[in-house]
Amino acid sequence: MQYNSESLLCFQHCKKVNVFCYIIPNNCPVCKNDLSNTDLTIPPFRIPNPLTSEANKLSLLIKPTFGNFIRDFKRGDLLHIALSNSERKIFEFNENGISSYNFSPYPNWTNFLSVSLASLPYKFVDLDEVLENTITMNIWEGERYNEVNNNCFDYVISVLNAADKNSNQKLTKLQLTQEFISPAINKTIRLLSIVRNVLEDGFFLQGNITE
Ligand SMILES: [Zn+2]
Repeated sequence: MQYNSESLLCFQHCKKVNVFCYIIPNNCPVCKNDLSNTDLTIPPFRIPNPLTSEANKLSLLIKPTFGNFIRDFKRGDLLHIALSNSERKIFEFNENGISSYNFSPYPNWTNFLSVSLASLPYKFVDLDEVLENTITMNIWEGERYNEVNNNCFDYVISVLNAADKNSNQKLTKLQLTQEFISPAINKTIRLLSIVRNVLEDGFFLQGNITE
């Protein structure tokens, strides 16, 4: 089964078992009865898909450094992060220096997480200007990229701190990771295990089937 960027469906038929799928099957995977002429205990509802191929405005964008979330991501894998401005334009820093992309589909950015910066206790008023300025800054030239001490995290932190003129507190890498990236990744990992099972078998059952 191909990965479908539509969100997953969930329903219950005969038992308190959640059935996850992209397409409602003809027969209930639990009791095997024809679903077309029976009622569902819980009618199908959509599970929001956190992965997107379109950046939200003023957001932190997260994807695995290698591979992609759906196929191969697991906890602890390296992450690549970037930012979007108020017009959803993406800015990223890597060994090629700064790249910016105006419209989806963005090269190399599909099925990523786009987490609004509004949830951070800072006001990034100058973010658009700061992001545009980084394009011509020496520090963000490709040759200056360093996997350990001048990478995409340094870029994002530096931009966010430069854009937040009102606060005396400076955002740290640790804070960004703990308060922002980890919660988003944890939620995604839970969903990914369901998605992978559905892709493999067409459906995934959650709950006690023998009850
Ligand atoms: Zn059933």
